[in-house]
Amino acid sequence: MSTHRETHRVTERGTVLRTVGSRERRSHLTAPRVPTVGIDIGGTKVMAGVVDADGAILEKIRAETPDKSKSPKVVEDTIVELVLDLSDRHDVHAVGIGAAGWVDADRSRVLFAPHLAWRNEPLRDSLQARLAVPVMVDNDANTAAWAEWRFGAGRGEDHLVMITLGTGIGGAILEDGRVKRGKYGVAGEFGHMQVVPGGHRCPCGNRGCWEQYSSGNALVREARELAAADSPVAYNIIERVKGHVPDITGPLITELAREGDAMCVELLQDIGQWLGVGLAGLAAALDPSCFVIGGGVSAADDLLIGPARDAFRRNLTGRGYRPEARIAKAELGPEAGMVGAADLARLVARRFRRANRRRVERYERYERYAQAFRAGARPRSTPEEPGA
Ligand SMILES: [Zn+2]
Repeated sequence: MSTHRETHRVTERGTVLRTVGSRERRSHLTAPRVPTVGIDIGGTKVMAGVVDADGAILEKIRAETPDKSKSPKVVEDTIVELVLDLSDRHDVHAVGIGAAGWVDADRSRVLFAPHLAWRNEPLRDSLQARLAVPVMVDNDANTAAWAEWRFGAGRGEDHLVMITLGTGIGGAILEDGRVKRGKYGVAGEFGHMQVVPGGHRCPCGNRGCWEQYSSGNALVREARELAAADSPVAYNIIERVKGHVPDITGPLITELAREGDAMCVELLQDIGQWLGVGLAGLAAALDPSCFVIGGGVSAADDLLIGPARDAFRRNLTGRGYRPEARIAKAELGPEAGMVGAADLARLVARRFRRANRRRVERYERYERYAQAFRAGARPRSTPEEPGA
């Protein structure tokens, strides 16, 4: 893990000082109002979209996430292809990437991504070299939180904590218009705070993590357990999946709960209650003015957030003597991560630099030449410089 900021880089021609870095501008207010591409890399799909300065999606395309067994280069190729496809029809001035994984504090490397073969991968620099436009890389919960703060449920909140309830729990902290990333870039991993000593085993290696009690996985686990035990309360859901317990999913439970199925309502209440308990712990540590709840499970709305509010109030430190944080449902849906990545990319965008297929091809020619040169072959002609 690199703990120092890189100040120079080594090239074929020796060491040069990096004078134009990709440091963020101070504020989104002074960033150029140009369209940028946001990319959301999840476990199963890559979503890319052109987003304007007001957060409106101009066009959206998607591709399957290459297999975990594939090399990082394959994922990179997918990203480049998506960006070039979009840049055929739009002016793309920068690219922002929200990745489901740990991104270092410099936001240049993906340290670890559970669904991909990225291990300490210098994603920003390699994409920046290939695309010849500024690239920004961040954790997908951070980009989603940024989008909700700029355009969604967290507008106007200067102390915001975002919780994404998916298969696990993701999180992000925003203070005074800045994402708090921690010293090493991996702040906001709330899902692995212990809430039940000696509780359920978690894949992270510990027991009793928050996400074992309040997440899509927890919801499905509980429902399947009841169904597998042939409990009378589960008759309705067993009938729905025709006795095939593995077919029970989060969306199905939410659907049945909306129809008034008592077991499903109760399961969502449990999840919501654990959500509130965890939020009260976060309020004790961070004291935000607003929690925004996003992710797939938040589709259950007040069936989930109502019990969460009650539990939050019951567990809040110093309750009755302090203002209570608002708990709001996220507004931007599954596109939040992509929109936030694009908007964060505007902070590093340059008004006159655009992604362009010809420049990428020229770069790739140059790379092939450089490789051949390093291998000892000495081509006679000198190729053009990349990005010329
Ligand atoms: Zn854990």
